[in-house]
Amino acid sequence: MVMLRMSTSLIRTLREDPADAEVPSHRLLLRAGYIRRAAPGGYTWLPLGRLVLERVTEIVRAEMTAIGDQEVHFPALLPAEPYRTSGRWTEYGDDIFTLADRRGAEHLLAPTHEELAALLVKELFTSYRDLPVTLFQIQTKYRDEARPRAGLLRGREFLMKDAYSFDLDDAGLRAAYGRHRAAYQRIFDRLGLDYTVVHAMSGAMGGSASEEFLAATPVGEDTYVGCTDCHFAANTEAVTTPAPVAGDPQAQPAIEVHDTPETPTIASLVALANDRRLAGRDNWSAADTLKNVVLTVRRPGAEAPELLVVGLPGDREVDLKRLAAALAPATVDIFDAWDEHPELVRGYLGPQVFDKLGVRYLVDPRVVPGTAWLTGANEPGRHATNVVCGRDFTPEGTVEAAEVRPGDPCPACATGRLTMRRGIEVGHIFQLGRRYTEAFAVDVLGPQGKPVRPTMGCYGIGVSRAVAAIAEQHHDGRGLVWPTSVAPCDVHLVAAGKGPQLDAALDLGARLADAGLRVLVDDRTAVSAGVKFTDAELIGIPHTVVVGRRLTDGYVELRDRATGERTELPVADLLEKLL
Ligand code: ATP
Ligand code: MG
Ligand code: MG
Ligand code: MG
Repeated sequence: MVMLRMSTSLIRTLREDPADAEVPSHRLLLRAGYIRRAAPGGYTWLPLGRLVLERVTEIVRAEMTAIGDQEVHFPALLPAEPYRTSGRWTEYGDDIFTLADRRGAEHLLAPTHEELAALLVKELFTSYRDLPVTLFQIQTKYRDEARPRAGLLRGREFLMKDAYSFDLDDAGLRAAYGRHRAAYQRIFDRLGLDYTVVHAMSGAMGGSASEEFLAATPVGEDTYVGCTDCHFAANTEAVTTPAPVAGDPQAQPAIEVHDTPETPTIASLVALANDRRLAGRDNWSAADTLKNVVLTVRRPGAEAPELLVVGLPGDREVDLKRLAAALAPATVDIFDAWDEHPELVRGYLGPQVFDKLGVRYLVDPRVVPGTAWLTGANEPGRHATNVVCGRDFTPEGTVEAAEVRPGDPCPACATGRLTMRRGIEVGHIFQLGRRYTEAFAVDVLGPQGKPVRPTMGCYGIGVSRAVAAIAEQHHDGRGLVWPTSVAPCDVHLVAAGKGPQLDAALDLGARLADAGLRVLVDDRTAVSAGVKFTDAELIGIPHTVVVGRRLTDGYVELRDRATGERTELPVADLLEKLL
């Protein structure tokens, strides 16, 4: 297939650990010459890194194509307009890179492309016969992450596979979701990743499903719980706990009620809501994500609203209609929070926000003490979507903000206990609903001649992040240990000496390449055999073939990187062994 020569390739291994690399994948990918840091959160892919990235990309592409997804490629540099229409221009806030062109027109570097996918379908598709369809792309994404870290794991520029499905109805969406879920399992299996599919939202609150694929590693930023006895696994942000039993004072946490000095607020909020995008709509779908809205809840007869339910940046969604029904007979007002009250979503909710709004509020102490409104994640400062529920308004089983401890009983089975684990989000699938098709009024003509609004799913894989996740799971004290499916080469040929051994290594390399293998030959003459062996272990190609002293007898040594096993075998047998 191909033969790379170490003597002429851009492969430079480092003797020392780079000072700024905190996690194994970052350290090893830098040391072994796969990537170089070029900018904060931006990395140059060197030839070896490119090869791995390409192999991961090809696996992702093949599985997407196999389920009938069609590949497109959107621009990354986009005008602000569609993102304003969807509300995400402000919703993403500081997380997007924005810029102006020479005429002063605002643009952004796309963090993800739901808007463009919806617009494309709107432009090109007219009939229900055109659906279902799923578009995907593998493209560089840009996000101004608050804390780019750990090399490829959290970049500001990174490669993502993003797919967008369009279906006529919920059943279609569920089928598309299921297809992608299965394809994702095949992909992550092929990539050699040890992963768990976790619920990314509360099933009780949300009308729709969202799951994350978390690759297990201690350096991961996500905490999730798994059950000791059943298959239940959930991001700690999404675990539901049952509401306290009414009438049992032991079970009822003390709920503090805070009165603010004045309550000017709700009237102004209502006025604000009247001309808001979200106000007055009766077709709330699961896609109307909580992250856009504030709900205030007023009990019958109460003068001021007593409860505020707010969406924070996060990926979960809630069926607002269901929520409102669950809270009845209280009156529920719904607001678009983003334009006028960015502090609600940016500043992390705290008593000061409630006070500022003049809303009476309840503190549910079952959430992390001191951060009652923001829990869901156990780490302070982490984004979490959560619903704040006071005791009287808590529909059974929908408190989403409880702190989870290992050891807690499993919500899915009678016997199991939860244990806490850490992982990296390598994929995320989401039944999006009609948020974007409504924002852009995407319609196709239905069978009866009436317009039908398609429902969307979106499905992401962090392709560059997956490279790092694989490295996190496949390394040892001496270096990387790539799974054969993604290794930059199949064979690493080491010419242990100069002269005939070098010639023989190059000759053998050419033959192996002709036979269809990817070959790296260490043909350097200025370094010792010892250095070559150390580098081979650092680089982590599955097989090393040493062309050394025994060449005179027609023998080479085959080393298995993963097991450390070494076998001497005749050159003539090598090909058969490797293919
Ligand atoms: P995270 O929770 O890690 O910030 P996300 O939920 O913001 O990720 P999504 O919007 O779901 O990410 O994007 C789809 C996929 O893109 C993620 O599952 C992840 O694998 C990848 N991804 C997201 N942000 C980054 C990043 N900064 N660097 C590398 N990959 C990323
Ligand atoms: Mg993110
Ligand atoms: Mg996430
Ligand atoms: Mg996600």
